[in-house]
Amino acid sequence: FMKGNVIDGKAVAAKIREETAAKVAELKAKYSRVPGLAVVIVGERKDSQTYVRMKRKACEEVGISSFGADLPETATQEEVLEVVRGFNSNPDVHGILVQLPLPKHIDEQAVLGAISVEKDVDGFHPLNIGRLAMKGREPLFAPCTPVGCMELLERCNITIKGKRAVVVGRSNIVGMPAALLLNKRDATVTICHSATKDMESIVRQADIIIAAAGQPQLVKGSWVKPGAAIIDVGTNPVDDPTKAAGYRLVGDANFEECKAVAGAITPVPGGVGPMTIAILLRNTLVSGERFITGKLQC
Ligand code: NDP
Repeated sequence: FMKGNVIDGKAVAAKIREETAAKVAELKAKYSRVPGLAVVIVGERKDSQTYVRMKRKACEEVGISSFGADLPETATQEEVLEVVRGFNSNPDVHGILVQLPLPKHIDEQAVLGAISVEKDVDGFHPLNIGRLAMKGREPLFAPCTPVGCMELLERCNITIKGKRAVVVGRSNIVGMPAALLLNKRDATVTICHSATKDMESIVRQADIIIAAAGQPQLVKGSWVKPGAAIIDVGTNPVDDPTKAAGYRLVGDANFEECKAVAGAITPVPGGVGPMTIAILLRNTLVSGERFITGKLQC
């Protein structure tokens, strides 16, 4: 999955989708049932609507049935919770995803915490995050983007065990779970954040760099140890009058500089981006398998 030292995230994601579709077909043939994913959206944010549309379409493509709830911006917290509870008790729904961010008047943590832990395919429920952090425990699901980062490393045969990893960023959805996953796979992990001093010298020690700060081209080529692997999660729009849209997307690493030094690097776009939905589909399949084969009851 590497061309030169550039990791082809689209190809890895396509492979995972193909594997998922094959297993969905197996379940269907054996049990006449397929996994189901409910995607909840509140409000009219254009970017959120695009992500939700992509997720629903991706479900169709692999044979997962998709359930929707589109609530208006003015929906109350109780109304959102009611929708989540409905999907919690729906036996045809095996995964529930609430598109973030939610409108300001809704308590995001209360909504995420209301999703049945067995259907938490986004892996954001505090119980799943807690299990991810604990030795000897495994979550039912881990967050899709960080799992996608790990898959890219593993499928490109990049050793994790015993290596030094530096994660730039500590958000609940990317940086923190990425650090926990690397720790579970026996890397020695350092987390950098906005208060970190002399980040450059910390990053320079890394065999594996996960860049998830949301800062365009923060990581310079001179920060990178020769041969290191760079997984660039950053997706930052920057003005570009030569593009029809008026902008282009750049990562958190300076791609050209870093590519010249790194052993492996993900491009933006076409690196981590396509992995998130592929892992969401796989998490939904795993959940569907648990329910349909009777390992879990709704
Ligand atoms: P957040 O803004 O929630 O978190 C950013 C983190 O980076 C924070 O922990 C912050 O520190 C840290 N940070 C910010 N600036 C610096 C800096 N200059 N130096 C060191 N650390 C810094 O972002 P997300 O985690 O949600 O997303 C990160 C990036 O990944 C974004 O570009 C986003 O678009 C992208 N993304 C891509 C996805 C995909 O490809 N599928 C999915 C999700 C996100 P502190 O905690 O101190 O504030």
